[in-house]
This record gives sequence, C-alpha cells and structure tokens, in this order.
Amino acid sequence: MHPFSFTKVASTRDALNAGLRGGRYIAGGTTLVDLMRETVERPETLVDITGLPLHRITVTERGGLRIGALVRMAEAAADSRVRTTFPVISQALELSASAQLRNMATVGGNIMQRTRCTYFRDVTAACNKREPGSGCAALEGVNRTHAILGASGDCVATHPSDVAVAFAALDASVHLLGPDGQRSVPVTGFLLRPGSTPNREHALRKGELITAVEIPAHPRPLKSGYLKVRDRQSYEFALTSAAVALHVRGGVIREAKVAAGGVGTVPWKLPAVERHLIGERPSDALWTEASERAADGARPLEHNRFKVELLKRTDERQLRIVGGNR
Ligand code: SF4
Repeated sequence: MHPFSFTKVASTRDALNAGLRGGRYIAGGTTLVDLMRETVERPETLVDITGLPLHRITVTERGGLRIGALVRMAEAAADSRVRTTFPVISQALELSASAQLRNMATVGGNIMQRTRCTYFRDVTAACNKREPGSGCAALEGVNRTHAILGASGDCVATHPSDVAVAFAALDASVHLLGPDGQRSVPVTGFLLRPGSTPNREHALRKGELITAVEIPAHPRPLKSGYLKVRDRQSYEFALTSAAVALHVRGGVIREAKVAAGGVGTVPWKLPAVERHLIGERPSDALWTEASERAADGARPLEHNRFKVELLKRTDERQLRIVGGNR
C-alpha cells in the first residue's frame, strides 16, 4: 500500500480546508480502502469526516426526506420514515453489499463508490478511468457485466450503486458544501457519463463535500419498490435492476418514476417508460408495452447482449409487483 497521512476533522470548515489542500474524504471506507490496498487509489492524505454532523434523517417542510451523507446504509434502510415513504430506497439498500458492509458504508459514500469493472481494479490492464489515455481493456475483453446504455468508446463500465438508482427514479438531489457555499445537483446530473473523460465520474468541485441527499415529496399514495437481478442472491452487483414508483388516483396512473441499474454508466432513468405509463389504467398489457421501451438506445457489447431482454423483463416484473396483476 502507498504511504499516506490520516487526519480526523471535527468541523466542516476544517474538512473543507483539508479538502482544498487535496485531502480525500473518507467515512465508512468500504470502497476506498479496498482500492488503496490494490494500489488503484493512492491518496496522499485521508480526511476522516465521520465526526461531522451529517448523521440525521429529516422530513423536509414539503414532506420529502433529507438523508445526511454520513447516515449508514443499514440505518437508512431501517428508518421507519424511509421504509414507509419510499420503500424503494430501503429495498435498494438492503439488496446492496453485505450486512457488515451496510453497517459501515454511508449513503454519501455509496453514491461515490467506483465501478466494479475488473480491468479498473487490475493495475496491469489498460483502463482510461484509472489511467487516462491508456485504453479500455473491457472493449475487447470480457464485458458481460458492462454497460449497454450511456457508454462511450473510452469506457463501458457500469455504476455499481443500487440506492443511486432509487434516488434517480425519485428525482433526488445531492446537497453539496464547498468553499463557495452550498449548492444542490440532481443525482442524474451529479454522476457523469464517461464521454472522453471517464476518469471524471461526478460533479464535485475541489474541496466540496456531500452533505445530504434529498428526495422531494411525491403525491401520495406512492407505491414503490426495487428489484435486483444478479448471478447469486446475495453480496453481488446487479446485472439489471429496476426502481419503480407509481401514484395511482381514480384508477389512473398520475405519476410514474422508473430507473434501471446494472445497465448504464450512470443510474439510468427510463423516461420513455414513464411517459407510456402516465395517464393510463394499470394493466398487465400496459406493463408489457411500457417495458418494451426500457432498453431504448441500448448498444450492447459482445458478451452482454442478454441484458437488453433482461432489462425489459426486470422492468416489466417490477411494474407488475408495484402496480399489481390486472
Ligand atoms: Fe476502465 Fe472503463 Fe474500460 Fe473498465 S470499461 S477498463 S473502467 S475504461
């Protein structure tokens, strides 16, 4: 492991100052420490931010939820307000990682976790994300788990977070604090597609800190849930996943929020599916028709063509689970 210094900060001001000097924030450390062991990451300074007051979950004035960046995954999943208002979030969290990791990892860190592309974690392989300009071993290599949506000629890695898919579906925003003050960015704009700079993965500016994720209020009742399809039923990343939230009033779907995981370079919103659902009456035929649009624009690689059909079926099944058999 590369030598590094370690400092623990007690105030956000100290954290921002340390971040501005190039320090890397660390909380649960469940991604970063792994990557440091593998020498994929070589920070000079780690800044422990676990002492900052970002551990609360609060209901917003309008009835949404604000989840502090340092809330542990397990805490957020178990929170009664999260479970009753947005079950899609608690389900996505509970289907992530392992119980031990969920007890350590934070919500902010979960969004920031890095790809599981094996070539990214193999420092002998070409990888534009790890070493810009070196190439992409996945393009001609084993790319079964890689992205079919949002990829570029420079990187085809998926974003691994489950809960970020639920956040994207619900139009959540990431609250940031930096030397220039506070700002808020939609989750879908915070995480960046690779383009020609796959090493740039998020919209954080130098020294900025994630303080919370805010989920806006949605009309109620809102039924929601998360389905994850993977090679084994625990401790595995998604081949495909679907986050679905539906508001039905008077027998008609008034609001539909749908996103997919395991298929995109970022959590992938499915606006064509949402448009097809809104204004319609729930039915089995509707779930099937809407899901036909889930893979619009997909560009599969040699080994992951199966994801196109699997994505549609995952989406259809989750629409049926949330919206009901009709
Ligand atoms: Fe690296 Fe992205 Fe290619 Fe994987 S897919 S090897 S992360 S550039």
